[in-house]
Amino acid sequence: MSKILIRGAKVLGGEAQDVLIDGETIAEVGTGLSAEGAQVVEAAGQVLLPGLVDLHTHLREPGREDSETVLTGTRAAASGGYTAVFAMANTFPVADTAGVVEQVWRLGKESGYCDVQPIGAVTVGLEGKQLAELGAMHDSAARVTVFSDDGKCVDDAVIMRRALEYVKAFGGVVAQHAQEPRLTEGAQMNEGVVSAELGLGGWPAVAEESIIARDVLLAEHVGSRVHICHLSTAGSVEIVRWAKSRGIDVTAEVTPHHLLLTDELVRSYNAVYKVNPPLRTERDVTALREALADGTIDIVATDHAPHPHEDKDCEWAAAAMGMVGLETALSVVQQTMVETGLLDWAGVAERMSFAPARIGGLENHGRPVSAGEPANLTLVDTSYRGVVDPAHFASRSRNTPYEGRELPGRVTHTFLRGRATVVDGTLA
Ligand SMILES: [Zn+2]
Repeated sequence: MSKILIRGAKVLGGEAQDVLIDGETIAEVGTGLSAEGAQVVEAAGQVLLPGLVDLHTHLREPGREDSETVLTGTRAAASGGYTAVFAMANTFPVADTAGVVEQVWRLGKESGYCDVQPIGAVTVGLEGKQLAELGAMHDSAARVTVFSDDGKCVDDAVIMRRALEYVKAFGGVVAQHAQEPRLTEGAQMNEGVVSAELGLGGWPAVAEESIIARDVLLAEHVGSRVHICHLSTAGSVEIVRWAKSRGIDVTAEVTPHHLLLTDELVRSYNAVYKVNPPLRTERDVTALREALADGTIDIVATDHAPHPHEDKDCEWAAAAMGMVGLETALSVVQQTMVETGLLDWAGVAERMSFAPARIGGLENHGRPVSAGEPANLTLVDTSYRGVVDPAHFASRSRNTPYEGRELPGRVTHTFLRGRATVVDGTLA
């Protein structure tokens, strides 16, 4: 294996240093390292981060390969600076058996762009009625530790309790899509001033908050660990903050789009802004940013949700929910968190690499940038400014809410175990 010398990068945004990669491992970190026998990547002024880890990606394979495959999704992930993604279970068939999670895991291994850790469904067919084979999925080659019915809420309190009890035995976690189903029947957008004006079915904050409140109490009751997907309201933040202060073992994520966009955009009736949970208000956005800054929200997760053109380019009510996010996540975080002074780059590394790897139990990702560690790295040109053009996406889908928007930062290099998956901003 060849040696690569990354020269003069600001490691985690700090002092400029050289990082020497030898084979799959970081061999040395320091200043004035010898370039002898190494390929040199000049990185002066750029920020070097541990490879990003996404706890919430929809890769769509098996079943919806028209919107994304494991290969196209992992290429999109590498472009966005990710070296590991957790693949959600709402595929066709649902990833609710050892067979399906092993299939996804194997496809990830073959892709070579980004590690894929499958998430197992909590219930059979995501139907919320009967626990899936959680133990068998954990014992499979895929070693599943994160379980989620994402896209749907595990709304039956007894099923949720049993799932929390079951995963506790092997240190797993249930990732809840918090959405009280009865309160959101026919909902099309956030319930508030804009939904009233547009006459669209509203999605009240309480539908999310009531499930989070219930689940942190259930986690406390059974002494297990719960993770809350895509927090979207100020009230959800308050509940998670309360739960953490009480010592409840809860972690939470926020998506880039909930850090930047509001329900005012729905006035355009452009279905690219239709997402679950919905875009909320400016007050919610502010609360989410503050919570991510102070650690109440542990991580940024993309909820990358590819949809083919025909499922989005239609009237609002008929459109599918979700937006792609892997290739723009870091830029949105730079704009909303770093350039606002809420987080430094070390904080970004914590929330987009260290913490998601820890929550998901990934041992070889989210590691410090130091000698002896796996060379999973992302190099970012933070001075770059560019307009988002989905035509350049590696994802098979184009449903981004940022088309035509200027965003800062560009991933110039991504390294997966010492191998460059992105070179000079282009997939290798
Ligand atoms: Zn979800």
